Amino acid sequence: MDRIYIKKLEFFAKHGVFPEENALGQKFVISAVLHTDIREAGKTDDLTKSIHYGEVSHMMKEYLESHTFSLLERAVETLAEKMLLEIPGLSKVELEIEKPWAPVGLHLETVSVAVSRQWHTAYIALGSNMGDRERYLKTALESIGKIKGCQVKKASSFLRTAPYGGVKQEDFLNGCAKVRTLLTPQELLAALQAIEKEAGRERKIHWGPRTLDLDIIFYDREIVDEENLQIPHPEMAKRDFVLIPLGEIAPYLRHPITQKTVKEMTDELTQHYVM
Ligand code: ATP
Ligand code: CA
Ligand code: CA
Repeated sequence: MDRIYIKKLEFFAKHGVFPEENALGQKFVISAVLHTDIREAGKTDDLTKSIHYGEVSHMMKEYLESHTFSLLERAVETLAEKMLLEIPGLSKVELEIEKPWAPVGLHLETVSVAVSRQWHTAYIALGSNMGDRERYLKTALESIGKIKGCQVKKASSFLRTAPYGGVKQEDFLNGCAKVRTLLTPQELLAALQAIEKEAGRERKIHWGPRTLDLDIIFYDREIVDEENLQIPHPEMAKRDFVLIPLGEIAPYLRHPITQKTVKEMTDELTQHYVM
């Protein structure tokens, strides 16, 4: 990805854990790397096709001067989020804030905190087999779009499927969504579980009836293997109710471990049925 650099922009602000720092203020220096596609601007000489580094410099300075944080960590975290939410075309941002006069009682050139934050792409499978199933799925898509730092980019149509896992219950309605997100995988899981809870989801029987089930199928090409979270979803390649809706919005997306496309996984699964 192309980059625009803003190096060592000075400003005067009041961040720090000591009361004197919050009252008197001190000098800070910020540097930013803006990741954005500048190809169109490069071809047309049109600033509106790129990111205006002058405006961004003023935005960063004004934000950091008008807020007071104890920690530089909080300053860069909240500024990176604001920039990714507000600057069109910005896919990733690296920020470093230096505090050259940090009151540590020693001679040092500077201290600094740096972060790298970006938009991620996640695919989420939705399912419901209780009550007004279509309403639950539609409301879930709306709720996902309302999470701060989440945008629903695509949604499949809803597919009616027979229940899975041997528990006798109503048919399912299933769908898949492509979501752009600033959340980490764990944050996204927590946000989705809050939406399930709001929909009255109760975990009684595993694979039993539920008003709403939201599973993370993919998160970029990342592999997550934690106690409460596995991505890609380990069962996805065995489930037509995940693969068919997913294939509608992303047929050529590849599984990061098996390297198979969604279409290939679907074909293999349906062949398996015939045999
Ligand atoms: P399955 O995961 O086989 O589809 P389920 O969706 O019915 O079953 P739940 O009761 O909804 O299972 O979730 C059980 C746990 O699965 C959750 O508490 C969550 O921590 C964990 N989990 C692991 N990986 C994922 C993932 N990729 N997406 C959502 N939940 C996950
Ligand atoms: Ca599930
Ligand atoms: Ca689940």
